[in-house]
Amino acid sequence: MKSDSSARTLYDASRDDLAALLAGEPAYRVEQTWKGLYESFAEPANITTLSAALRTRLTEQLPTALIPARESVSDKGDTVKFLWRLADGNHPIETVLMHYADRATVCVSTQAGCAMACGFCATGQAGFNRQLTVGEIVEQVVRAARHAKKRKQRVANIVFMGMGEPLANEPAVWGAVERLHHDIGISARHLTISTVGIVPGIRTLASRPLPVNLAVSMHAARNELRDQLVPINKRYPIDELIDACREYLRVRNRRISFEWALIAGVNDTARDATELARLTTKLRPSAHVNLIPLNPTPGFATRGTDAQGVRRFAKRLQDLGVNATVRRNRGTDIDAACGQLAAGQPVVLTARRNI
Ligand code: SAH
Repeated sequence: MKSDSSARTLYDASRDDLAALLAGEPAYRVEQTWKGLYESFAEPANITTLSAALRTRLTEQLPTALIPARESVSDKGDTVKFLWRLADGNHPIETVLMHYADRATVCVSTQAGCAMACGFCATGQAGFNRQLTVGEIVEQVVRAARHAKKRKQRVANIVFMGMGEPLANEPAVWGAVERLHHDIGISARHLTISTVGIVPGIRTLASRPLPVNLAVSMHAARNELRDQLVPINKRYPIDELIDACREYLRVRNRRISFEWALIAGVNDTARDATELARLTTKLRPSAHVNLIPLNPTPGFATRGTDAQGVRRFAKRLQDLGVNATVRRNRGTDIDAACGQLAAGQPVVLTARRNI
């Protein structure tokens, strides 16, 4: 049997690919290797249950996908941003590891760059390079988990909120979800996929067999404004998006979150709160609003709403019956916060955009 050519990298390989690679060895070697990779987060060279010759064979035939380029630390070590280069084409991507009291969360990238072109997001400003494979997504988690292990912490949550639009790369994202759930043992209920609002992708997700959490980057509750902030809204306008969310809620019967980056004078007014409340309070069983004070990015001149404005907007929503919370910002000083991942690429713009 020949090894499947789709197994480009270590964490792209399926059990069958490993079996092909380990042909002639006792069958239990596959399981030993799998456990080493997915339970111990070991590099093949360190899977000591295997002979030195087998470790070498694995290392040579299934290369790792991510080449470490830089590690930046913030929040007294609680937030770590990893910059990687993809082994094939040198494209940079980033992963963020966030330590909390008793667990850790990893924020993974799903594409090298992003084609959605949201003007306030650094990844959107930098443009699209290519899709990530299952293995490139999974390896981000494995490497972050290896790092967390040194602090005796376990990765308990994964958010697909790094670079890229997960639902523009749904098959690979779903492949990664299955690996994380079945092989690494992070339950689908602890996995959150964030989308800019790709309606067919939300519908595909609703048909998938595992109950992952859905977050929708809303930012505006009227088409005229959302068309400007989130250009894909012109293709999938708010009504269609909310219909798809309703379908997801009906199938999953869990709550959905809406993300709202607060931009001073743009989407933080009483009118915005009323429009948002009108959308979310109709959804059952429930919708939750996550307010994120806009983080600065090189290509977007308008500021984030100040702290007082954020509190005022949150209170307005709460008074209108919306379940709204403010997301604590992590890693702003190392450009690791929401919307700041651009993988060290200089964002060259002739004019800073104002909305
Ligand atoms: N493309 C997906 C996944 C990225 S998640 C999506 O858009 O949902 C990144 C989150 O950070 C999204 O909610 C995005 O809207 C938000 N974001 C982008 N730029 C931001 C910024 N400058 N400040 C705060 N949040 C931002």
